[in-house]
Amino acid sequence: MTPQADPSGLPRIAVLSLGGTITTPAERPDGARPPLTAADLVSAIPELATVADVRPVVAGARMSADLRATDIAEVARWIDGARRDGIDGVVVTQGTDTLEESAYLLDLLSPGDTPVVVTGAMRNPGRPGSDGQANLLAAVRTAAHPGAVGLGVLVVLDDVVHLARAVRKTHTTATGAFVSTPGPIGSVVEDRVRLGLRPTRRSPVYVWPEQVRPAAVPLVQHCFDDDDRLLRSVGDSGADGLVLAVLGAGHVGARLLPVIDDLVARMPVVMASRTGSGDLNRISAGYPGSERDLLGRGVVSAGALDPLKARILLMSHLTAGAPLPTLAAAYEQASG
Ligand code: ASP
Repeated sequence: MTPQADPSGLPRIAVLSLGGTITTPAERPDGARPPLTAADLVSAIPELATVADVRPVVAGARMSADLRATDIAEVARWIDGARRDGIDGVVVTQGTDTLEESAYLLDLLSPGDTPVVVTGAMRNPGRPGSDGQANLLAAVRTAAHPGAVGLGVLVVLDDVVHLARAVRKTHTTATGAFVSTPGPIGSVVEDRVRLGLRPTRRSPVYVWPEQVRPAAVPLVQHCFDDDDRLLRSVGDSGADGLVLAVLGAGHVGARLLPVIDDLVARMPVVMASRTGSGDLNRISAGYPGSERDLLGRGVVSAGALDPLKARILLMSHLTAGAPLPTLAAAYEQASG
């Protein structure tokens, strides 16, 4: 699609749909449930025409569990092309289950300052109180707002504006399921977008070669009284790297240290806190299995990234072929 200048002077915003609950209508009497297209989503909200010149694009019709990293890399390439052609902003609609990961991957693969906003719906369009239309309208308003330029990928649901790198899905069904640490950066009220905070740095940006196989990066969570069996299996699994969700501010049981040493010798091993928020410590404790001990053994700290985001960054770094010695600095930059 080549965006042409809109004579109305409204910003040109592409709405790219990938599938998910926002495109899943209630079952018809014949049992069929044909997914809604981006054009269906847009035409259901007449108010959108007063906000932007909206260009609907169908990029897929899948639940978010079936989205792959290569799909998101393709979306990033499409956005880059549209950006060069002069689009003013892009809204991506998708399922919410993996949105915190795919939006972050899009953030890491998106060069340029054009606003990109990801949204979805917690309730499908056939249900009372469905949130898809309100979310799409708020997302388009945000993508059309001059203050959204240069912020990296944003996530807008429930009238709240989040940085993709900070947002997590924290509830199975609530419309307010998406929460950010340290907090959201803005909100949408009636026709106004309020962007009260700006990040001090952008996420690192990676370029993935076309047709590349994304790096295989398992995420293993360390639990109370677990043993090293699962971690041992990673060594010969063909994994390119590992994210270990560690306890608290950067701790593991000393029983895991031999296998961690073995894995560090074979692949990049990154630790991220299983608490899901806050920075890992670096200097506070030095006992075996503490943050200082793990860093000394060559484990890389994910800083303030939660385990899911840490995995997306490691996957991006390895797939892009970025040098391993720059990995720690990439996590530092990503931590804001
Ligand atoms: N299972 C759906 C998906 O993630 C849920 C949703 O869209 O909210 O695709």
